[in-house]
Amino acid sequence: MDYTPKDEKLIEARFEELMRSCERVIKRPEDTDTIRRAFLLAKEAHKGVYRRSGEPYITHPIAVAMIVREEIGLGVKSVAAALLHDVVEDNDNYTVEDIDRMFGPKIAYMVEGLTKIAGVFTNNPAAMIGGGGKDFSEQAESFRKVLVTMSNDLRVILIKIADRLHNMRTLGAMPVEKQIKITSETIFLFAPLAYRLGLYEIKTEFENLCLKYRFPETYKEINEKLQLTAHARDEFVENFITPIRRKLRESNIDFKIEGRVKSAYSIWMKMQRKQIPFEEIYDLFAIRIVFQPSPIIPEKSQCWHIYSLITDIYKPHPDRIRDWVNNPKANGYESLHATVMATGGAWVEVQIRSQRMEEIAEMGFAAHWKYKHDGGPGSDDEADFDRRLQEIRDVLNSSTDDAVDFLDNFSMALYSTEIVVFTPKGDSRRLPQGATALDFAYAVHTNVGNQAIGAKIDRKVEPIFTILTSGNQVEIITSKSSHPKPEWLDHVTTAKAKQAIKTFLKGDTHNRLRDGQRIFEERLKDFGLVPSRRLFNKVLPAYNSSTKDEFYSKLGSGMIKLDKLSEVIHENSASKWLKFWSIELSNPFKKDSGKDKIKQVGRVGSGFSGERAGSEFVIAPCCNPIPGDDIIGYNDPESGHTEVHKTSCDRLTWLAAQHGDYICKAEWASHKAMSHFAVIELRGIDRIGLMLDISQLIAGELNINMRELNVRTHDGIFEGTISVYVKDKHDIDSIIDKTKKIKGIDSVKRVS
Ligand code: MN
Repeated sequence: MDYTPKDEKLIEARFEELMRSCERVIKRPEDTDTIRRAFLLAKEAHKGVYRRSGEPYITHPIAVAMIVREEIGLGVKSVAAALLHDVVEDNDNYTVEDIDRMFGPKIAYMVEGLTKIAGVFTNNPAAMIGGGGKDFSEQAESFRKVLVTMSNDLRVILIKIADRLHNMRTLGAMPVEKQIKITSETIFLFAPLAYRLGLYEIKTEFENLCLKYRFPETYKEINEKLQLTAHARDEFVENFITPIRRKLRESNIDFKIEGRVKSAYSIWMKMQRKQIPFEEIYDLFAIRIVFQPSPIIPEKSQCWHIYSLITDIYKPHPDRIRDWVNNPKANGYESLHATVMATGGAWVEVQIRSQRMEEIAEMGFAAHWKYKHDGGPGSDDEADFDRRLQEIRDVLNSSTDDAVDFLDNFSMALYSTEIVVFTPKGDSRRLPQGATALDFAYAVHTNVGNQAIGAKIDRKVEPIFTILTSGNQVEIITSKSSHPKPEWLDHVTTAKAKQAIKTFLKGDTHNRLRDGQRIFEERLKDFGLVPSRRLFNKVLPAYNSSTKDEFYSKLGSGMIKLDKLSEVIHENSASKWLKFWSIELSNPFKKDSGKDKIKQVGRVGSGFSGERAGSEFVIAPCCNPIPGDDIIGYNDPESGHTEVHKTSCDRLTWLAAQHGDYICKAEWASHKAMSHFAVIELRGIDRIGLMLDISQLIAGELNINMRELNVRTHDGIFEGTISVYVKDKHDIDSIIDKTKKIKGIDSVKRVS
């Protein structure tokens, strides 16, 4: 289906507008050709497709290209990639290879990246950010992967942001559930990302649009109130500005000054955070002064010069100076903020910045590029720029197990305001507000963090958990014998510190388990035993542990000692531990089960799932009921087994909701297992490891309760008796059979 003449006209007009906007960046005739060809290909690929608003689809890529050019400030290749960004994704007739052939590898790479990112977000309503559950973390993980891959060329991310911005601007046409999905992603991912990349204007617009579509009433109310107070505010601003204006003119400064109202979103956030109504927010606006720098004086000095002119008029608040001129924010933001007292006593924030700083604040990294390439005033800080780029890559690459965790840390790192502290040598380090000396230690080096025991903050010794403030000079005191503790996690805010501590603790836990196991096995050798389930049945309750790992961990960390191990092992605990349990099952839903509603189907060992499970049922691993728990059965149609769950088990609730028919009644019915005492005599040729093999067989493989093992060796001959508890003759036969097969054993017989 071809475009209608009306569509053609509209499309042509939008494209002409884009071409005009590109004039500034077009350097060669091929550039015009590239953009035009990209446009024609996209127009062809999206033919017959319309947006919900009723406009032809091609208007979307044109609008995205326009944002890429006008609002982010990227060049020809990015404009072309923006025009092509949905072609491969939406039209099966085109591949990345086609793009490569027609437009070269750079544009193809960007289109490929954009296609991959699109795949993360497409049309999966369940994969809604904030929707919780598995889909959420999956999406977070794939988004992380894509970001990591694409961070080689940040332009891909910038174009994706432009794409999202246009979709947000046209969100009104979408159904509500789509609006929720898209706004959730935007507030969670795209706004922080835009902030990180220094795209303030876009970040603010993202936030405002999210508020608008999620809480339309609130959004409307705030805007109405802003409107109502506008006149009074304008008057106030005018009175405030007039003397400043006069003073700056007298000093021959070329500048613009205006009052800027804060965004609806940031006002709303403040209302939420402080739990106050709109009327009580005093800083609804800030004054911004943007000056054209004089070429002879450094911009920094000019900022401070303007500051001193203003503070000649208004008294500054001593604690509210934000010097992002000497210490730019991690995202590149530079500005000097001061808060001064207006006539009448209200505090007013004044932002002072050069034209270049203003552009960086609006367009973020792209403006850096511009100044870098144009050899402008910012061109000397190329190293600084590269470092910031590297910081972004670090954040994207930071390895965490859990993608959700990663995004949490990511948004945290993005939104918190920063402090700047100094090393003893005077190097500055940026840290989020609230960071402790320990965060600083990890920022210096992981090893410094891991061995930190204290800090000298401004030459005074303080605990490592001390919260730092801007300007602190910090020196970390370390000790080789110190190492991270779990509670450290409560005292750090940086992703790097958290990750390093977690990594250490994980390794530490691993070591403790290994140590515990070693100690236990070592001690068991005294008794000629090896770890077995049967043994753990006795040992775990005796040492107050519910799992093997808990036991090993307690042992490894020295929390428990094995003093009474001998009694524990030799305790004749048949009454306590040789108890077997049977479960009676019946299906209340089956009417025809007839004569006997209760049927006995099998037995399970006490509390250990799977152990000696009757062939027909298993203890459900999700809730792992033990005798005495209220239980219920679920006849799993797939395995044919009956799973025994606690009645309180969540999974059971879920199963019951799905397949109520398979639920059956289950009850513990305990009785003592019959156990018989037996002694076996063996003889053979002694060799290293023979004892171990025997005990391993009996206690481990056969899982039989060994009471005693007596062994003598003389002249290379091995003689011994084993006393065991067995259920029946079958057990004793099986011991004899298997023991005979052990290398070196000559004869085995039952003696009692
Ligand atoms: Mn798109």
